[in-house]
Amino acid sequence: MGFERFCVKCGVVTDSLIKGKCQKCFLERNELFEVRDVNIELCVKCGKMRIKSKWGAYNLEAIGEEVSKKVHLLINLEPPKINISLEPITETDFDAEIKVSGFLEGVLVEETKHHSFSLNKVSCDPCMKLVSNYRESIIQLRAGSLSESEYMFDVAKNFLSEEQAVDSLSAIVKTVKSPNGFDLWIGSNKGAYRVVRKLEKLFKIKAITSKKLIGEDRSGKVKYRFTYCLKKK
Ligand SMILES: [Zn+2]
Ligand SMILES: [Zn+2]
Repeated sequence: MGFERFCVKCGVVTDSLIKGKCQKCFLERNELFEVRDVNIELCVKCGKMRIKSKWGAYNLEAIGEEVSKKVHLLINLEPPKINISLEPITETDFDAEIKVSGFLEGVLVEETKHHSFSLNKVSCDPCMKLVSNYRESIIQLRAGSLSESEYMFDVAKNFLSEEQAVDSLSAIVKTVKSPNGFDLWIGSNKGAYRVVRKLEKLFKIKAITSKKLIGEDRSGKVKYRFTYCLKKK
């Protein structure tokens, strides 16, 4: 039998010593990690969130991943294992339980910390544009009768919400009612164009497209506003 090994600080007998101390005494004076600021933006209008420069759908998993990237090890663990458990307090406030473990001088150590953070509430660029009636195109629904146009409007809304999931600008900025149909002001022409193609196919109508010069963008490229008239003969 060899000598009993013990903690120099509290005297507990153990073979698991780090720099002469038991894990508990070692962790009293040494932290394994720190958590840096979590910086995530949430658009209060469309509910999308931005991590770094990328906007995407609200996603708890992505928030957890971002938190784990903010865990900064202060001690070299072999290998470090990071476990995040995220608890939403509100839609924008979170408590993260962060558990870091790994081997240090052959001893398995583990430390748990709680980190509270909030998503920054903002308005994304497309949503800012939409509040000022920004529109790149107009879809005119003229299905023959008002009730048929109403049906077409419902279908168009569904198609647009699919586009909105990808691009917030593909929203209806304003609806103008006419005696037998509707004009939909759409923020994004790309989204409007795709929706018009789908409506043409579904209702077997060919859209009549016209365009109007509305100015230049920042790079000097001319900008047009497109009007798609879906009119049943
Ligand atoms: Zn001790
Ligand atoms: Zn938005």
